[in-house]
Amino acid sequence: MSTPAPPLSFDAAADAAGEAVEEALSVVVRSAARSPDPERAVRDGMPRVHRRLQVFVERTFAANPERPVHCKAGCATCCHQWVHDVRAHEIDALGRHLVKAGDGESVQDALQERLTAYRALERRHPDSGREADPQLTRALAYLEQGRPCVFLDEAGGCRVYALRPWVCRTYFSLAPPERCRAEALRSGAGRGLFLEPFSGVDEALDAAAAPFAEPGYTGELVRDLLTWLSGPRRGGAPSARRSSPRSRGRAR
Ligand code: SF4
Ligand code: SF4
Repeated sequence: MSTPAPPLSFDAAADAAGEAVEEALSVVVRSAARSPDPERAVRDGMPRVHRRLQVFVERTFAANPERPVHCKAGCATCCHQWVHDVRAHEIDALGRHLVKAGDGESVQDALQERLTAYRALERRHPDSGREADPQLTRALAYLEQGRPCVFLDEAGGCRVYALRPWVCRTYFSLAPPERCRAEALRSGAGRGLFLEPFSGVDEALDAAAAPFAEPGYTGELVRDLLTWLSGPRRGGAPSARRSSPRSRGRAR
């Protein structure tokens, strides 16, 4: 009888599953580059990438029991943040879903309410002001206001779970949920963790997003989805390939 293989270490588990994510994402990017319809190539390929990303997440944490993840269904302080680093193909998928479900108008109103609140914070804490990190200040102030993501349901679940952005798929806490609140983050006690399956993930995701980019995209979920919902893509019109600006991550 053979001896069972020892459990993979945190790093080995992450490396093995991360390679699978990297390989699937590379296939998508190469297919899009060769295809006469790059958007379709990305749309068709991303579900496979997401499945592999989920395996990466599960294997990484299974191999790491001494650092348990505290995230549970219904725990959703993190879903009250101003979400950054959302890619253009993710906005497109969400926009299409909303239009198909007939939810475009109601979500547009909710997005506009969030944007109005965030703009007030931008006026109060401008980038050109004296604060050392006005974006972080705004992010924490927004979190304190308690506005849920427009996709958060009353039970603390994500109504667009299958389409949630990569930043939502890869964010976890290795500390109890109270450490995800603004006061803990402000004091430095918060210990959120973004899992990245490989070092070039940002560049690969940007390449996948490039065919979907629109003028004025900022990487913010609220702003970019409003742009999508008020733009030509709402009617399904294709647009030319452009590069995609990126913004910083969430205050986590
Ligand atoms: S990141 Fe924090 S708030 Fe979000 S599910 Fe995990 S523990 Fe809960
Ligand atoms: S898209 Fe879903 S997972 Fe992401 S912040 Fe909104 S409710 Fe939370």
